[in-house]
Amino acid sequence: MFDIQEIRSQFSILDQKVNGKPLVYLDNAATSQKPDSVLKTWDQYYKEINANVHRGIHTLSQLATEEMELSRRKIQKFINAKHDFEVIFTKGTTEGLNLISYILTQKLKKDDEIIISYLEHHSNIVPWQLLCERTGAKLRVIPIDENGILQLDIFDTFLSEKTKVVSVNHVSNALGIVNPVEEIIARTRKNTDAYIVIDGAQSAPHFTIDVQEMDCDFYVFSGHKMYAPMGTGILYGKQHILEELPPFHGGGEMIATCSFDGTTYAPLPFKYEAGTPNVGGNIALGAAVDFILKVGQENIQRHENALLEYAQRKLLELDGIKIYGEKANRTGVVSFNLEGVGIASDVGMILDKLGIAVRTGHHCTQPIMDFFNIAGTVRASFAVYNEFHEIDLLVEGVQKAQRMLS
Ligand code: PMP
Repeated sequence: MFDIQEIRSQFSILDQKVNGKPLVYLDNAATSQKPDSVLKTWDQYYKEINANVHRGIHTLSQLATEEMELSRRKIQKFINAKHDFEVIFTKGTTEGLNLISYILTQKLKKDDEIIISYLEHHSNIVPWQLLCERTGAKLRVIPIDENGILQLDIFDTFLSEKTKVVSVNHVSNALGIVNPVEEIIARTRKNTDAYIVIDGAQSAPHFTIDVQEMDCDFYVFSGHKMYAPMGTGILYGKQHILEELPPFHGGGEMIATCSFDGTTYAPLPFKYEAGTPNVGGNIALGAAVDFILKVGQENIQRHENALLEYAQRKLLELDGIKIYGEKANRTGVVSFNLEGVGIASDVGMILDKLGIAVRTGHHCTQPIMDFFNIAGTVRASFAVYNEFHEIDLLVEGVQKAQRMLS
């Protein structure tokens, strides 16, 4: 049973007025709201457990460790990793991608190639540019067509023995396009020995993820976009790869032995978890997974797709709306502009006065904006608690913006 009012009742933040109007929160691709169960888990950790993990033998420390490891196992199941130690807690997608690009440094040399796509978030561009600077490797970019679809025939021509990394997002945060990662992975495996990295920041909140079936080497995502606290995230990596590659941060927790003559490293996952982790956040991420599974991933996807379809249809009924990206193959995001009137941020400000929260600007994807020759878009993005009448309010707000700005 999918009961939207019951779901909304778990998000008290939604029940407020912004600028005198009921809040319509449509900025979920930036960050989602957190259900009571997640907030309670976080609160309870600090009120009842707060202790450092993996260290003390005292009761609270053991409890904190057990809870965090339980959360790790929940996430393991959530993405169907083979082992719980392949699940590394991070601060988020950005940290995960920086970690991977850093630990691959020794694997690349001058003129090797790293393939990304035109649809990447800056956090899946800049870490690879830094890796190129460190190693002399070159970045190659899979082009898109005017619908934002990746040009896989050109991708095929990029693949060679020089290809060392292929890193693409599963879902574009700017356009909502779902990329054919299975196809990209299969073609990469067939033609190269490259490491395959999937940025799952916009797919983990919306889809059932099976990293074994997907057969990527790394899959990274952020907790805060999937109902968990900010400052949480996951890096999944295949066991043999994480075992072979060097650590990222050095410090406490990640060592087996440490002396001035040298250090040996702790086994996975701790080798990649230096320092005191975000214990409360990591435990709350497990509660967010529980929330998603309880609502049901199929229910979430069905509801969000229906919202998206409705939003696209209603917006296109207006004159002068340009929606970016292929309409058929999208999830959770509609990115648009009002043709000939104002700039995206003007529209965003008018919507905000009406209590409607959307994102405007380049969405950390400047190359996509350059491709479409625009400064930015208005982006409405959906989560499980959004309602159809909120889309009606968005569309009314857009009409008002059209009148005010023309
Ligand atoms: N990749 C994608 C596709 C994203 O949408 C985002 C967040 N907007 C990121 C990476 C970066 O995530 P975070 O800021 O949580 O590290």
